[in-house]
Amino acid sequence: GYRSRAAYKLQQLDEMEDLFSHGDSVVDLGAAPGGWLQVASERVGTGTVVGVDLQRIDDLDGVETIKGDMTNERTRERVIKRVGEADVVLSDMAPNMTGEYSLDQARSLHLARQAFETALELLAPGGDFVTKVFEGRDVDALREDMEAEFEYVRTTSPKASRDESSEIYMIAKGFLTAPVEAGD
Ligand code: SAM
Repeated sequence: GYRSRAAYKLQQLDEMEDLFSHGDSVVDLGAAPGGWLQVASERVGTGTVVGVDLQRIDDLDGVETIKGDMTNERTRERVIKRVGEADVVLSDMAPNMTGEYSLDQARSLHLARQAFETALELLAPGGDFVTKVFEGRDVDALREDMEAEFEYVRTTSPKASRDESSEIYMIAKGFLTAPVEAGD
């Protein structure tokens, strides 16, 4: 079985947008307890899967883990050094919930931005990026910034996360080698 219900969300996202191919190199940010890592490693077979989280991730066959804070430059450097180039960058990072929506949403947006910046450094041309974010302020601006770097961006709220209705996933497909100029 899977370590998290979140695993089913990633399966749905993969069915929708065909994220993984055999042999892919995948980086998963905010990966604990490891449900997404399990799904990714099934899909990529002999490929590489690296998971990063603030929390320790229990060992999983064929998966490398890094314990660290992705808002910290040092962690991002460690990840880049370890992975080199990735075909898929995933982020299911979520802040500790305070219950105050505007604060939780701002923190979620910040994590999604950090994931996006990391993806820009890691992705191979044509690569894909998926991030969770809580609906609200400045999400449209993030989506526009993503659209400039990818062939297209799709937003979805998978059935498996229906009860947390504020949570959406943005799926950016086809990392572009040269960014699209603003206004094109
Ligand atoms: N996708 C995971 C799975 O299937 O098991 C579940 C991820 S859980 C919803 C969100 C995770 O984001 C938590 O484990 C949390 O520790 C992690 N996280 C939050 N902020 C982070 C940060 N700054 N750096 C790294 N991980 C972070």
